[in-house]
Amino acid sequence: MPRTLFSDNYLSTKQITSLGIVIGLIAALFFGGIFSFIQYNKRDSGYNVLAQNMSSYLQTFFSHLQNTTYDLQPLFHANCRNGNWELTSRAAFQINIRTFILVRDSIAFCSSATGNMLMPLKELAPGLNDSKDVDFVIMPETLKMHNNSIIGAWFRSPGAENSGIYATISINLTPYLLFSANQQNISSVALVIGDKALTSNNNHIVNTDQLPDDPVRIAQVPGYPVKLYIFGSLLPAEDLQLSALASVIFGVLVGSFGAYILTVHRRLEHKILVGIKQNQFYLAYQPAMNSTTLNADGFEVLMRWKHPTAGLIPPDVFINAAEAQQLIVPLTRHLFSLVAQDIHKLKTILPVGTKLALNLSPSHLYSSSFKADILTLAAALPQNHFQIVFEITERGMLQEKEATDIFSWLHQQGFFISVDDFGTGNSALIYLERFTIDYLKIDKGFINSICVATATSPVLDAILTIAHRLDIKTVAEGVETTEQARWLIDHGVNYLQGYYFCHPLPLEQFIQWYQAPRHYSDLLNKV
Ligand code: C2E
Ligand code: CA
Ligand code: CA
Repeated sequence: MPRTLFSDNYLSTKQITSLGIVIGLIAALFFGGIFSFIQYNKRDSGYNVLAQNMSSYLQTFFSHLQNTTYDLQPLFHANCRNGNWELTSRAAFQINIRTFILVRDSIAFCSSATGNMLMPLKELAPGLNDSKDVDFVIMPETLKMHNNSIIGAWFRSPGAENSGIYATISINLTPYLLFSANQQNISSVALVIGDKALTSNNNHIVNTDQLPDDPVRIAQVPGYPVKLYIFGSLLPAEDLQLSALASVIFGVLVGSFGAYILTVHRRLEHKILVGIKQNQFYLAYQPAMNSTTLNADGFEVLMRWKHPTAGLIPPDVFINAAEAQQLIVPLTRHLFSLVAQDIHKLKTILPVGTKLALNLSPSHLYSSSFKADILTLAAALPQNHFQIVFEITERGMLQEKEATDIFSWLHQQGFFISVDDFGTGNSALIYLERFTIDYLKIDKGFINSICVATATSPVLDAILTIAHRLDIKTVAEGVETTEQARWLIDHGVNYLQGYYFCHPLPLEQFIQWYQAPRHYSDLLNKV
């Protein structure tokens, strides 16, 4: 076999390393993207909750205050001295309230702090519009004490024009920061009224245009001319660092895993090639018994691999690996050459017309060399002695057009076709109509379910009925018990194969088995 056939698929260590890096990078980018996206969304909804909580806290506070001012309305009718006590105690008991001041016709005349007074509201709270129902301003507590700020809140008396209650509220943004304590990425919070703002950074009053750009949230306090600005980041540096770190770890893991898988595959691939070269593969034969005569009318060839250190490697493993590594063609060619070696010995023992079943992989079926490989095999086999049956799984029939062509070509060449593992694919029954099939090999899963002697299997019954109608011979694989054999014979299955009769055996043992006398008294007496 030409060496180039394999070297095409052979990945060098350098290639595997590069592939591992590429896989790792893709995985890292992918993971990093997803991780950042999740973090971003988490922060985003965190800010929503925060904005919602803070503005409803403020709303509750302001509406409570507003209700208090309604309660104070009767004091307009008392003189300041009498009403003053009530005003003072209300202010004292209301959290964060400095003073309540009664205003009539834009003139402040009674304060909870100082009693009688006479001062235009305009001077007390410049910028406050007393013709509005509710108006707020932010201002320094006193003209001298710029460090402390207050909110001046105006609540107009119902029905009055420029009369109402003016309250001063001391502002402490600490509660807002406490609110945001679980949001580590709040850089600051600002309370905005008109074009003035107070930020949690310091208690100075700033103009709104001095605030940082792009708050992550702006929340309007419902019903009051107050807004909350929340400053922070949706994707802060620490999140980015975290996702970068996680991506790197993930990328390294995936990349190494990818490189590992590639290396293992390369090793297995390499080992299969060495195995072929060093003749580590051999064949096992398992008879198929004619259900009427209980003679071994045919046999299936199964490949075996005895690795010098790993021992016997199951065919499922190496056949799958060979398929994945595009090595199934050379492996099957090797199988054919092994068959060609054994066949001369078998010919002397097995009568003319004995069926010889070989498994074919779907990927070989559609390879460019398939027909040539089959013809090479045919040429190496004794003429007119064996009936060659190719076992093909349902998977091999998915490419319908190609399958039809190949099946009819095989038939023209005098070969027979058997559907292997019948019933395990999705659309098994459809194939029976579409293709010309000679044998149907019922999967051992179905045979297994017969073990309870009394139970019948409706699916199996249906398969057998259809096969019978379509004149397709049936083979049961995996027959392990007398009950199963009995049931299958009674239901007209044509061939039986399984451990009950014989395990797959290497050539010499198979010949011994074949030549030894066999009695199936518990089956035969009823045949
Ligand atoms: P398969 O073609 O369905 O072969 C039947 C499997 O059932 C064989 O396993 C056989 O040893 C096992 N078997 C036979 N009688 C019994 C039984 O009574 N009970 C149970 N539980 N099992 C039984 P094996 O030899 O391990 O092969 C496994 C699969 O590997 C085969 O399934 C076939 O798909 C694949 N394979 C084996 N040799 C070749 C080959 O030369 N070429 C290809 N393409 N595939 C092969
Ligand atoms: Ca088979
Ligand atoms: Ca099977």
